[in-house]
Amino acid sequence: MNQGMNLCLVCQRDDWHEKYKIEKWTVLICKHCFFGKIHPFGAVGSREIFYSKEQIEQRNLKQKSRGRKFFAQLKRWSKNLTRRDKNKIFFNRLATQLPKGASILDVGCGAGAFLKHAQPHFQCTGIEISNYLGEQAKTLQDVNILVGDFLREDFKGKTFDGIAMISIIEHFSDPKAALQKCFDLLNPKGILSLKTVNFQCWNRKINRQKWTGFRPPDHLVYFGPQNLARLLRDIGFQKVTTSAFALNDNFYCDAYKGSAR
Ligand SMILES: [Zn+2]
Repeated sequence: MNQGMNLCLVCQRDDWHEKYKIEKWTVLICKHCFFGKIHPFGAVGSREIFYSKEQIEQRNLKQKSRGRKFFAQLKRWSKNLTRRDKNKIFFNRLATQLPKGASILDVGCGAGAFLKHAQPHFQCTGIEISNYLGEQAKTLQDVNILVGDFLREDFKGKTFDGIAMISIIEHFSDPKAALQKCFDLLNPKGILSLKTVNFQCWNRKINRQKWTGFRPPDHLVYFGPQNLARLLRDIGFQKVTTSAFALNDNFYCDAYKGSAR
């Protein structure tokens, strides 16, 4: 492996622990800041094709058979009991911080599950790389849906009061560029609110390579609350808060572009 080209994007060191083997991939962990990534990144091909209808359906089937059946069942029970809609929860978090009518961008909006909740309250734009999912999102009323690669989209000079990244940053081969782009697209007092898999959760440490967060080559990079906060501050965000629970596979993070709030 050519590690010379493999500086950790959080701490800039080249010192990796080859932690797990999953099929043909290795999960590498930075020994200093615990940022994780799969190796090799390549062989993924075009992300547009990767997120086509056929490939999405194929991976969903595979993931179902791979996941631990007991935990999958437990999750279904708890979901049915509480009837929690995670997108609604995410919307509520953002709605407490941004006024009605604020402009928001949902990066990786999928079929519009989050924008459906956000649309009555915010001025919504969504961007989705999968044509298949983006077309479904376009059926929502009063939202602006762009289909394409977030890093290549110019947004015609538009900026936003809020950006949502819900379970999406782990899919970027260059997450730093994506977060930098969010920073640039935000208004001076804008908020980036995101959710991603928590590499530091106990479930990963207990289940190791069988952890549900591992989905190579769909998930490429892995953050924990500390190294993500560090990266966001390095990019220029003035204040970063994270919320994580040891037994939750995901964590939340809010990054504020301006300090005055
Ligand atoms: Zn590092």
